[in-house]
Amino acid sequence: MSIKEVEKIWMDGNLVDWKDAKIHVLTHALHYGSGVFEGLRCYNTSKGPAIFRLNEHINRLYNSAKIYFMEIPFSKKEISDAIKNLIRANKLKECYIRPIAFRGYGEMGLNPLNSKVNVSIAVWPWGTYLGEDGLKNGIRVKISSYQRISPNSIPPSAKSTGNYINSILAKVESLKPGYDEAIMLDNRGFVSEGPGENIFLVKNGKVYTPPKHASILPGITRASVIKIANDSGYNVAETDLTRGDLYKADEVFFTGTAAELTPIREIDEIEIGKPGPITKSLQKSFFKITKGEDNRYDFWLDMV
Ligand code: PMP
Repeated sequence: MSIKEVEKIWMDGNLVDWKDAKIHVLTHALHYGSGVFEGLRCYNTSKGPAIFRLNEHINRLYNSAKIYFMEIPFSKKEISDAIKNLIRANKLKECYIRPIAFRGYGEMGLNPLNSKVNVSIAVWPWGTYLGEDGLKNGIRVKISSYQRISPNSIPPSAKSTGNYINSILAKVESLKPGYDEAIMLDNRGFVSEGPGENIFLVKNGKVYTPPKHASILPGITRASVIKIANDSGYNVAETDLTRGDLYKADEVFFTGTAAELTPIREIDEIEIGKPGPITKSLQKSFFKITKGEDNRYDFWLDMV
């Protein structure tokens, strides 16, 4: 998916022109995956552009950094303000937002502790990750032969750049034979998540999602959908699930900032079916909330 360029990028406190937002080839993170990042979305509401769950994303960024002994040289407020200023500077109403803190140039070798930490933020218009058609009609997925990274290899709960080489292997393995996306199992063989999405299933009117100990990134969309489902009267169980549970499910869907709430219509050639009633209802509620049309959830929106 090519990037739609906008005017400015925020780098270490300054707004620079998009084409000048460059780093050295000996940047530590390029070689060793020593970066942490976030993905957020800004939605256009009737009151203006609003960022969905900004504080939760910023907190996760700082928690990811903590695991890697990385001190982000800006306060949470400075980063939050920088995101808003950048959206205003680029005159965007809706966009994807990508802050990243990474070990920079100056030291090589595996000890990252003496490398300085650089921070940048980019924003650009980005449609739904798994496609508009997928959002409406559902996607086809494949359970990956690649196992999800596990807590004692690389902590899945930190959103680090290095994690995504695991996701990339699974993604490409699913794309080559023509699927849209992968599902990964954890090191125990239970369902974990997609390469960049959490997963939910519906069976007999109940909603299920893998628990935090199933090597997932605890998604902010996941947490939001759990709350929306509970508020709408659907019981959500965070429990270990097997691939058999997926195959037998009435409905299955992915959640994520990029993927939003994307239904899954087929897994490993087994038909799950068209997006079902609970998936459609949760998707509808989610988009109403992100667009500021349900004031019970206004506290999730940060006006730009
Ligand atoms: N799992 C992984 C591995 C991800 O990269 C993402 C996207 N950040 C998610 C789940 C979903 O998280 P969120 O809803 O916070 O975007």
